[in-house]
Amino acid sequence: MSAEADEPKTPTFEQRLRGDGRSQERLHVSIGAICNNNCLFCMEEDRDGRYVNNSAMTLERVGWILEQHRGAEEVCFTSGEPTTREDLKDMLELATKLGYQRISMMTNGRRLASLPYAASLVKRGMKRFYVSIHGHDAKLHEGLTRTPGSFVQTVAGLDTLTQLKRFGVVVHTSTVLTDRNLPHLGEIYRFLRGHGVDQVVFNVMQANGRANTFFEQIFPTYTDIAARFRAFIEEAGKSEHEPKAFLVDIPLCTTEGIPDFNRGFVETYSHYETTQKALLEGVDAEERKPTNGLVLLTRKDVDDATRDKRAECANCKYDAQCEGVWRNYLRRRGWDEMTPVPK
Ligand code: SF4
Repeated sequence: MSAEADEPKTPTFEQRLRGDGRSQERLHVSIGAICNNNCLFCMEEDRDGRYVNNSAMTLERVGWILEQHRGAEEVCFTSGEPTTREDLKDMLELATKLGYQRISMMTNGRRLASLPYAASLVKRGMKRFYVSIHGHDAKLHEGLTRTPGSFVQTVAGLDTLTQLKRFGVVVHTSTVLTDRNLPHLGEIYRFLRGHGVDQVVFNVMQANGRANTFFEQIFPTYTDIAARFRAFIEEAGKSEHEPKAFLVDIPLCTTEGIPDFNRGFVETYSHYETTQKALLEGVDAEERKPTNGLVLLTRKDVDDATRDKRAECANCKYDAQCEGVWRNYLRRRGWDEMTPVPK
């Protein structure tokens, strides 16, 4: 039996439209105080703030968080680079002991180039990996990560994970779309599938942090992204039934004509921040009643603070599912690309 068969199923696009996919709780735990990449589009622009916040996620606090969310569909270790934490293995042991069914990590994958290290995580229950890779060659990837040598290590990390698939490992990748890699969707997809990746996710940039700072240099229009993805899927579909490529975090009204199978979405999740960081982000920390020095935030909190809809959205068939459009995107490009899809 495969690991997938034991795991809760990811909701389909249709289930999402009905709202079924929203009820499952995912927990994100922010633990990486630092990151050994330096991506041009990183939404975590405030490195010092992240260092303070994620350093405060001690093993004791992480244990407390895991206790609060027992029964969640998934726990994902994320923020900064989780593999820089030497106590990650202890956190995995806690999560496994508490019965979490799916334990995952968002990572640049560089440290996973070491088979003994990767195997030590898998042995402790981490079976799902979301690996960030932004190109199919060193020039493209490292131009975006601004970290020489990162490409070869990340690819070696993917190869290691592929070797560990017989232990139930599932490998997804995340490629953040910029003006530079958008023309290479097909090459990136074929390269990653050739290295054993199960699902290739193309993430549209969140217009926050550095992606906002460098917006004019790197942020493609939604219209261009959707058109190129549509053409890529059409081409890929000639040689593979339902290519395992997904376009995520783009207003659905701009993606009509892309097969539903390939229209991905960002799952609902909760995460904790220190009271200090929550206050800095404009959340009324007192109202949330901080416990253990931490405040619980949901995806909706982040969306409400940074995205908008307009009156016409009420007539769109995707209104209930749509998180809205980044204010920082609208400030530059307005609403012209977003046309409500009739119900
Ligand atoms: S609700 Fe508005 S922004 Fe969202 S998909 Fe519909 S028209 Fe686009």
